[in-house]
This record gives sequence, structure tokens and C-alpha cells, in this order.
Amino acid sequence: MLDKVVAAGYDVDHGLTRVPDGIEGEAHVDAGQIAELKAMGVRILGENERFTWSDVADGGFRAAGARAAQPLAQPAQVTEANAATVRVVRADWFTTKGQGFLYVEARTTEGGQANPIVLMQLENDSGVGTPFGSARTMSRFVDSGQYMFHRNLFKLDARPDQIRVTSSTGGVTTGKVSNWLEGAPPPLTDNPGYRSDFIDGYKHPQQLFSRAEEIARQYPDIAEIVYLPHKTNGYQRKAQATIGGTGQAAVVVSSAAWGHEGGNDVTVEFVERPGASLPLGVDVSGKAVRVLLAKDANGALASTAAQVAAALETQSQGLVDRAHPYRSNAGTGLVVPTSAPVALSDFLDQKRVGAPEGEVPRGEATIPVLRIGKHRDGRNPGVLIQAQDHAREWVPATTTLETAERLVHNYKTDQETKKIVQNTDIFLVLSNNPDGANYSFYNYASQRKNLTNHCEDANADPDRRNSWGVDLNRNYRVGSGHDGYAGGSTVCTSGTYQGPEKLSEPESKNIVWLVEKYSNIKFMMSVHSNGGQLFWQPGAYIADGRVTTPRPPLGDEAFYWQSAGRILSQVKAYRETVVTPENVGGSSDVLYSSAGNVREDMYHTYGIYSFGWEVGGSIYNPATGNWQGGSFQPAWEGNPALVSGHSETMEYANGIMEMFRIAAEWGKDKKKPTSELVPGGGRYTGSVDVRFETSEPATIYYTTDGSRPTLQSPRYQATEFREPGQVFRVTGTTTFRWFSVDASGNVEKGYDPEKNGRNYRSATVTIVK
Ligand SMILES: [Zn+2]
Repeated sequence: MLDKVVAAGYDVDHGLTRVPDGIEGEAHVDAGQIAELKAMGVRILGENERFTWSDVADGGFRAAGARAAQPLAQPAQVTEANAATVRVVRADWFTTKGQGFLYVEARTTEGGQANPIVLMQLENDSGVGTPFGSARTMSRFVDSGQYMFHRNLFKLDARPDQIRVTSSTGGVTTGKVSNWLEGAPPPLTDNPGYRSDFIDGYKHPQQLFSRAEEIARQYPDIAEIVYLPHKTNGYQRKAQATIGGTGQAAVVVSSAAWGHEGGNDVTVEFVERPGASLPLGVDVSGKAVRVLLAKDANGALASTAAQVAAALETQSQGLVDRAHPYRSNAGTGLVVPTSAPVALSDFLDQKRVGAPEGEVPRGEATIPVLRIGKHRDGRNPGVLIQAQDHAREWVPATTTLETAERLVHNYKTDQETKKIVQNTDIFLVLSNNPDGANYSFYNYASQRKNLTNHCEDANADPDRRNSWGVDLNRNYRVGSGHDGYAGGSTVCTSGTYQGPEKLSEPESKNIVWLVEKYSNIKFMMSVHSNGGQLFWQPGAYIADGRVTTPRPPLGDEAFYWQSAGRILSQVKAYRETVVTPENVGGSSDVLYSSAGNVREDMYHTYGIYSFGWEVGGSIYNPATGNWQGGSFQPAWEGNPALVSGHSETMEYANGIMEMFRIAAEWGKDKKKPTSELVPGGGRYTGSVDVRFETSEPATIYYTTDGSRPTLQSPRYQATEFREPGQVFRVTGTTTFRWFSVDASGNVEKGYDPEKNGRNYRSATVTIVK
């Protein structure tokens, strides 16, 4: 449905929320568009009306006759133990602004069953040893036709110790409640003498880039500029006019020169001469183009729009580059004279209300990358922060600039900052879409895409100018819309237009150039707004069958979760903003498929841990008891407890600083992981369920056939996505051989899977009948 709506030209990306029966988003629409959306099957909510999770227990439902779990036939002696059960995926407790919340995801293996749909009931206790109660019916989450899981978020005043989930077919399980972002260490901003809060308002690209260059000049020992090689389109357009209405007699004219290079000086006039039997002609004087309309034998006007357009293209002495009938018209109408010469315009001088002072430099643009690090020679792990792929997202740019200021101002005086600067190599792209960002600041605040126009005649008239451009975060190579993944559009005016081919745009080519030139880059964060989400892979799927890009192995997944917890705890430390667990994970699991996004490419092509961040977004308002949504350009000094560009900049800069620390620690990590088979080798009667545990996020490779484990051996996997590792039922004597590899590549016991050593782990599970 989202694809359909976007393809129809509605701009509803970002600020989107998964709700139990669909996706909720905002769009600016008129009455006619509302009718069109309704006809497409979209449900229209009122202004400020949005889904809220029920805070009231509903009594749940009565499980229909508990059914004894049937032992499965076991074809082999090691099989998955937990088929046909209800499983708890997550049970997270968090507090924000004095209010407790419980968020639960649970899954039933019968969740895909359509008739009848399997219901799930959730109960919680009120602390250790207290009874279960407050039964609720869980919300079933279905995406692209596939059952995902059931889930609920609700307020609770006391932290539960356990939950119980019961399915309507008799499955039941209990789960322990975990803390989410509770008890985090203090942020760096609490360090004595630490300096922060450098940004005094939104910054357009000229301000961002000149400050980046100034920082490089002021701190040459730790900072420099890397200029990206692919120049962008620039803040420039051809001058245009649509002359003669929008009917069959209308002609769309575009200048050969950019507007600021003379195109804006071109005028076009359609002239009627006295007389009869006159041919169509074009007269050029300076920048004035006069089309002398033809007349028939009776003295009537006789030039069609198609004929006038063709004459303009061939006879304007190079002033007009393209002329064509309006949109899909054939141009069969007879052109009427203009009352005066029509001036072509690039419309860039038409400034929106609230535009900053000053002129925007025209011409192709070069993007500077601010590189910060004491050792910028490849020895340290690189961290790429890429802000503002989407032009209207102003907070990501100020957030990124704030981290730069914190680094250079605290480097000499704050020990933690010094560690970051000495142990990482940071690349900050303060705006990866400067042309679009300028257009957003100066002309059209809601601009999302870049300023390259790939539209053909049907969409090339100037009334379409706010819809041109490529969605840079759909223009990459992995999980691309060009390969059938969902969420990228082939329509040039769509908000998610993916471009004519992969990497068609200089802005995306630049990012690929950067990570290929600086192959020490091992972490990246693509910073967006405003959704209150933290993402990784998978971020795209083929809709038919919901085939995602490959899921990260369990070790990477655990590392992502661990890092997310650290990053978001630091965000929370500023003003108790909580990014909820439902908004954290593989982006296609928790939000929607975004084909060709940068994260998929960076992770799968280069092995870079690649996060996507939606800063801003929902924040709990204790005054109303509701979660309040954010916006792309909230008032800079808005409500400091709710929606405010300044507060968001400060809290999310905390999170980026934590990502730098994660990278610094990752680079220093020489500690080998350890792992265990639980409950371990030994003698068991009949059968035993076993699983692996690791000392830190790590991926396990194992064998059960007596062979040496290698990187080609089976990988220990999650039971299902967002769940912990598999549980194996062992029904016959089996020897497990395995090793683990942590996120930094350290191998347990220094085992080398490529060589012939035998220092892998081994345990024999002996089954006696
Ligand atoms: Zn975005």
C-alpha cells in the first residue's frame, strides 16, 4: 500500500509508524487527494489523530482448550527443539519522565495461520513472586503478507519480573523482563569542564561547510578536509516557462543556459503578423526569441504547439534547449499569440517565506568531508557519519556538526574525548545533499531529494520542479529497486525515486569513493529525521515472499543490539528521550523496505557496521500521557522537553559520541571471545536440549559430524529474527566442535580455521536410553 501511495506521487516517507493493522504517516493533501487516497484504500485519520497503544488491560481471551505439545518426529539426532511453541522475542521495561512502560514481542509458530487467526494473550506480574494478571490481547503484526510477531507497548507503574504469553491454540510460555536503556552510565557532557552546546540554530550547507573548513584550519593537528571528487548538480536549474495554459496549445520551453548564466534573461514571445499564407518562423534578437506564427490562406493562425516547439528547438540560435507540448499532450492545438514576451526563469530567485539572508552560490558543488583524528593514516578504525541525504532533514546536520565541535574543543582537556580522537578516524559528511538542502532552506522547505532532474517531457514543466530529483538513499547497489526490492520508485517525481540506474548520482558515488579510498572505515551512521528509530540490516526485501537481503549473522546482530543500547542510553541521558525497542533493529523488520539504501551497500559490500538513524520522532509527554510526534524542521528553540531542534541536536550528538567510543573500543579489542555449549557435554537420558552462549557478541561456527569447524561450517543462528540463538534437541550421542568470532574478528583460543590446528572447542553429549 505504501508503495502504491508513493508511486501515485504522495510524499509520505519518514515519520512513518508501524501500527498493528498498517502504516501510519503524514501527508499534506487537499480534498481531491483525500478522495483519491480513499479510493486507493487508504484510511484517513483526522488532524493529530494517530494510533495509540491501549493502556487498559482488556481481559484477554480464554485459551481454547490447552493442547498438549506433541513430540515431533525426529529424523536426525540433532534437530531444532522449539518448533510448535509460543516464544517470547523481547520483553523490555523502560522508564521515561517518571512513567514506566513494558514492550513485548512474542511469536507463535502458528502465526501465519489465517483461519482462524491465532490470538495471543499477554499477562505480566507486578514484581518477583507476584501472580500474573492484567490480561491483554496482543496486536498481530503482519508485513507484506507475512506474519512477523505479536506485540504490545503499554504503561505500567511497577516493573514486572516475568510475563506469560498464551496462544488461543493452547501454547503458553513465560519470559523474564529485561531492562531497556535503564541504568545507563552518565554522558560525556557530565564530565567536569566538558564543553558542548555549540550550535545556535539550523545551518544551511554554506554555513556547515565553511565551519568544517574553519575547524580544519584551527585544529590542523587533528582535523583536515577531504574533498569528494564527484561534483553535484549544484544549486542551479535551466530557465523555463509554460506558455499558453496547459491544453493542447501549450508549449513548455527550457533554456540551454543555466538560469544564472543567461537562461533567466531569455524571453519567448508568440507573435501574430498581419496577412495570410505566412510560414512559421523564429526571430532572435539578443536574448529575445520571437516565434512568428504561421497563417493559412484565409489569414487564420495555423501553428500547432508541436510545430512551435520544433521551431523553437531548431531556430532559437541555441537559446532554447528543449521545447515540447505540455505533459502528455500531443500539441495539436493552435498556438495563440502572447500578450507580451514571457521571461524564462529558473525560479531559484523566488525565495520562500523564512528563507535565510544572502545568495546561494550557483554552479556545481563540491562536498567537503571533515576528517577528525590524531592518526589519519589508516591505523585506526574509521567512522563515517553521513548526514542529510534528505534535504529537508535539518537536525541531522546540526547534530553532526555539534559532535565535531565537541571533539575539537574537548580533545585537549577531556580524557574520554582524547581517547576517541587518538583511536578513531572520523569522517563527517555534514550534508550529503547540499543542493537539495539549499533548495529546502531557500525555496521549498519539504524538498527531500537532490536537484538532479531525470524527468522526461511529461514531468519536465516547471510546475513539477518541487518533485524532481533522486532519493539518494534509494540509489545504492545492494537490495536495489533495480533488482526488484521494494521501496524504491521508478517514477521520477516520486519521493522515493531511485534514479535511472544504481549509483547514478554523484552524491552516492562519493560515498562509495570515500569508503573505497579509506578502507579503514568500519562503522557508518546515515543520519536522518524524524522517526525516533535506530536501524541496521536487513533494510530491504522483495515484496513477493518478503525475501530480505541477508540477515547479519548472530554475532553481528548481537553487536548491533549491544551498540544500539549504548548509543540510545546516551541519547536518553540528555532529557530522557527513549527510542523504543519496537523502533530498533533491521529497518525492514521494524519499519518498511527501503530498496537501495546506503546501509545495505556499506554492510554487504564492505563489511562496514552500518546504522541508520532517524533522530527526533516520538517523545513521551507526561502532561498529556501520550507520545508526541516530531517534524523535519521543528522550531529551533521549541518546547525543550518535546519538539525542539536544539534539544534533538544535543541528545542525538550524545549518541554519535558514543558510537565513536564503540569504534575506538572495537579497534582496541584484542580480547578473544569464549563460548559454551549449555548445559554442556556429559551423559543425559533420552534427550537433551542444548544451545550455545558467548561471552560477548560473537558468531559461532560448528559441526556435529566429526569434522573440523571452518568458516564454511554451519553458523549458529537465531531461532527466528529478533530472537536468541537456536535450541537443539539431541536424541543420540553427538560431538559438537566449534569456535566463536567476535565483532572485531578475534577468534576464540586463537584458533585458525584456515589451518590445521585442533584448538577449537569440543563437547560430547552422550545420550543413554
Ligand atoms: Zn531521511
